[in-house]
Amino acid sequence: MSIISTDITRAKAILEQNDLVAIPTETVYGLAGNIYSEKAIKAIFETKKRPFFNPLIVHIPHINYLENVASYVPEKARQLAEAFWPGSLTLVLPKKANIPDLITAGKDTVAVRIPNHPLTLKLLESLDFPLAAPSANPFGSISPTTAKHVETYFKNDIQMVLDGGPCQHGIESTIVGFEGENPVVYRLGSIALEDLEAVVGSILVKNKKEQAPDAPGMLERHYAPKTQTILVDSVIEEIKKHPGEKIGVLAFKTPVQDSTVAYHIILSENGNLNEAAARLYDALHDMDKQDLDVIIAERLPDYGLGRSINDRLERATVST
Ligand code: AMP
Ligand code: MG
Repeated sequence: MSIISTDITRAKAILEQNDLVAIPTETVYGLAGNIYSEKAIKAIFETKKRPFFNPLIVHIPHINYLENVASYVPEKARQLAEAFWPGSLTLVLPKKANIPDLITAGKDTVAVRIPNHPLTLKLLESLDFPLAAPSANPFGSISPTTAKHVETYFKNDIQMVLDGGPCQHGIESTIVGFEGENPVVYRLGSIALEDLEAVVGSILVKNKKEQAPDAPGMLERHYAPKTQTILVDSVIEEIKKHPGEKIGVLAFKTPVQDSTVAYHIILSENGNLNEAAARLYDALHDMDKQDLDVIIAERLPDYGLGRSINDRLERATVST
């Protein structure tokens, strides 16, 4: 029997028993549990096989709820929250004392956002606790952007996936922390850096592990297909290096004319970066099913969401 359902009342009942439900958001599907339940939070880490040093994002229903979670909100954090919530912006703020250490990996900060999906907002509003909801995939693998992706990963582990359709943005939230009063991007994501800067002025980006020891989880290898994946500027040049291999090409907008390519996906024929982001993970899931020897991915233009997509592709292409 399928675990996919649109029954929000059932989702609420399962969460109130401190069990897990996968929920839709505009970024990717999340594996959700009550932040105040040790049982639920441990189940999230165990189901995902996620290391405990990797903190979870707390999902709240509305901006007034922030005071229950954060002990201090810098002025620029408030401006960003007002501009982008509900939406794909996660703020890392000093935490309230009652936020469990399991959620924050023992840190004195908490990551928080309001997701922008009607079903999940309704669910959050009906609960009297916030939800921790990391991406609903085994640690390190490709994030899920459809209910079906989640079912494939976890049909034996969880009772229900709340079906909210395909995720509209398709890559994870942009994570912004603070050094004093100054915003710092810890993870590029589905809100473009330029859009944040239009609200609060220029922002430092520290999204590499060595720059951001404060943001565990920015692991070099992440979001990765099982198939060997290579990120290049010129697909044509790379193809020449793989004679006789079964090649898949993940191109931005222009198809590659080469008869040796076995499988081909174009992220956006019109060269639209939003569309490319929304399709990225589904394309990687699809490629991974084709029994290819190698996936050659084309680097996108390095601005707007192109920069966030390149970040994910870089992490998908680090070999273990
Ligand atoms: P996700 O796997 O999409 O749920 O993202 C969770 C990520 O948020 C973690 O891997 C961290 O990079 C980041 N994060 C969560 N909480 C914190 C925190 N307190 N301080 C810094 N980064 C955090
Ligand atoms: Mg994740």
